[in-house]
Amino acid sequence: MFKALVLEQVEKQTKASIQQLEDSALPEADVVVKVDYSSLNYKDGLAITGKGKIVRQFPMVPGIDLAGQVESSHDPRFASGDKVVLTGWGVGEGHWGGMAEKASLKADWLVPLPEGLSAQQAMIIGTAGFTAMLCVQALVDAGITPESGEILVTGASGGVGSVAVCLLAQLGYKVAAVTGRVEQNSQLLTDLGASRVIDRAEFAEAARPLEKQLWAGAVDTVGSNMLAKVLAQIDYNGAVAACGLAGGFDLPTTVMPFILRNVSLLGIDSVNCPSAKRVKAWQRLAELLPDSYYQQACSEVSLEQVPEYAEAITNGQVTGRVVIKL
Ligand code: NDP
Repeated sequence: MFKALVLEQVEKQTKASIQQLEDSALPEADVVVKVDYSSLNYKDGLAITGKGKIVRQFPMVPGIDLAGQVESSHDPRFASGDKVVLTGWGVGEGHWGGMAEKASLKADWLVPLPEGLSAQQAMIIGTAGFTAMLCVQALVDAGITPESGEILVTGASGGVGSVAVCLLAQLGYKVAAVTGRVEQNSQLLTDLGASRVIDRAEFAEAARPLEKQLWAGAVDTVGSNMLAKVLAQIDYNGAVAACGLAGGFDLPTTVMPFILRNVSLLGIDSVNCPSAKRVKAWQRLAELLPDSYYQQACSEVSLEQVPEYAEAITNGQVTGRVVIKL
């Protein structure tokens, strides 16, 4: 038997309850993992409260991220006791996820937990931190070096943005952090490594096709007018890693930054990122994130507390990361 948070559809409403399930209830897959930690993302909040159309079939165990130990495996790549981490792949959406004591998963989805990283630390990082690493790696691969100039991070105090600030600073880049909450978050962003914090209001005016060149590169978690503005301000040969839509999914821009300044727009998806790239990204996260990163605001909650926190995260009432101890 194992304990799980189960989402069901009752009269078109999503209902979440803690249930004791038989092992035979687990979906068929290659590897059974004893989950140590999961994390609560905004997407999980939407799934659990039913506020967003995330879950593709019911009953569903939510949890897009998990870390734990292999209990049994039909795949030669994994053996009992191996420590693993998983993010994305539609887990917690179309396949039972991490908010349970056990999960049955495809071996292809699993990444060995890097040496020196605990399951709890992996979940403090979660999908958000992993996505930030993919963004930073994309800028590095595009040839943007610390000598190229300053890097802008938008939505900087969010889950993705804050890790991007920290990773870039650790790699020696000079980082400008854009936030809508300067007073509240300046200290946090500076502690993470930002050399300056800029008010989001400075980006409010609609972008001209080309503006003064200010940034060698950028990590954008916001999209819409913000991304258009950033593109217009990127240096010749610069690049923007775009992963988010916190400000909207449209992009009211022109081709000018691309055709006159050789600017690259680099798309970042974490959900279906190929395995080899994942393994490398997790190793880099383990190497680069300082201890101080893990000491940032992080709430550890029980499975029973998840529905309450799910409601809070969808109402913007959660600060920092929420990890779930199974
Ligand atoms: P968070 O909600 O933690 O952070 C988003 C941040 O964006 C906020 O903290 C805020 O930062 C800023 N923001 C919010 N609303 C607006 C707005 N209207 N205009 C401008 N800025 C705004 O989300 P995450 O960091 O977890 O995710 C960021 C984005 O990336 C989301 O859109 C998410 O869906 C996406 N994402 C994409 C992934 C992928 O695979 N491509 C994976 C994970 C996330 P501040 O207060 O500092 O201004």
